[in-house]
Amino acid sequence: MIIAPRIRGLICTTAHPLGCRANVERQIAAVAGRGPFRGAKNALVLGCSGGFGLASRIALGFGCRAATLGVSFEKSPTPSRTATAGWYNNRAFETAAARRGLYAKTIEGDAFSDAVREQVVAAIARDLGRIDLLVYSLAAPVRAHPRTGELHRSVIKPLGGPFAVKTLDAGKGEVRDIVIEPATAEETAATVQVMGGGDWELWAQALRDADVLADGFQTVAYSYLGGELTARIYREGTLGAAKADVDRAAAALTERLADIGGRARVAVLKAIVSQASTAIPAVPLYVSLLYRVMREQGTHESCVEHIDRLFRDGLYGDAVPADAAGRLRNDDREMAAPVQQEVGCRWRRVATHNLAELADLKRFRDEFLALFGFGLAGVDYEADVDPTRVD
Ligand code: NAD
Repeated sequence: MIIAPRIRGLICTTAHPLGCRANVERQIAAVAGRGPFRGAKNALVLGCSGGFGLASRIALGFGCRAATLGVSFEKSPTPSRTATAGWYNNRAFETAAARRGLYAKTIEGDAFSDAVREQVVAAIARDLGRIDLLVYSLAAPVRAHPRTGELHRSVIKPLGGPFAVKTLDAGKGEVRDIVIEPATAEETAATVQVMGGGDWELWAQALRDADVLADGFQTVAYSYLGGELTARIYREGTLGAAKADVDRAAAALTERLADIGGRARVAVLKAIVSQASTAIPAVPLYVSLLYRVMREQGTHESCVEHIDRLFRDGLYGDAVPADAAGRLRNDDREMAAPVQQEVGCRWRRVATHNLAELADLKRFRDEFLALFGFGLAGVDYEADVDPTRVD
């Protein structure tokens, strides 16, 4: 079939196998170009197939030659329907890793389930012995709780009262005003169940109980804080409540890991274009402005460059600042005053008619399509492709 992007609302329902491979290889080249660093030996990456999780796996594999075990949730292809982009990304990663003699295994299933945890523990015990790093990079809309069986659905809403905000319709290139109603207490609690630290704790406990954690084991979970523009919908909203629970879990886990010299950390990352982030109201507009401003100020980093710096200079170095709560602040460049001031000025002025002048809508769209393997250099998008083949 000829595979073209099919966009439905905030997602693209098709993905291009060769484009996804080119996207993974482009990120591998970015890491390899920075040279090797000393870091993890055996790493487990939860949420390995896209965004920051995929970037983490690439930085660990191709930056410090770590053996990586990945977990993600995917749909397989059929002869007439493409797989999820993550399915192609996982295979592209494994192929590239094998070519360089790196161990890489991926388990595709529900990371919130005990069944997948058991498969992962067995794979570590069999293939790696112990792991020295767990990266927690899941971003999910729902979680079936493994103990209660209850299905929790996360919502992205403000707390307290309604929030009137500008938002971007990236497809139409329009800036609109919307009002988002506040979450109920039940919705907030459900979001904490899905995106909070509880599942991270279950993972660390299961790995601990199975005795597959090396001495000095580290684990890192990803978070976002952001500035005033997105505060009501992020930091002070339902997602912020979930991320506060991740902070709580980090402290609790560090205590529980003390006897093996272990540590759990939260890394606060910059805003990027990912499947998860484009679903957050106001974030596409904020990111379009941010990318333009950071590029103009010479501080822009791609997703993989950002994560490479987190490992190279942060987790395995000492050049990324930590805040009073011990969180690694890899978002330092996004939060720098000149960046926030300029984005704030543009945010107040931005409207449909001046979008091209103030923001980088083209790059936002290009990066969104690239998540699904579209628009990559060197890929023939007119060619007939079998969506079930990845070689
Ligand atoms: P993403 O949508 O690109 O990737 C999410 C990953 O989670 C995918 O690999 C997906 O397959 C996996 N996943 C989802 N549900 C799953 C399930 N039930 N079982 C197994 N795997 C599952 O997300 P992202 O934007 O890279 O976000 C990753 C983390 O980084 C999140 O904690 C997010 O809050 C954080 N973060 C994101 C941003 C941003 O701007 N995107 C900024 C700072 C922090």
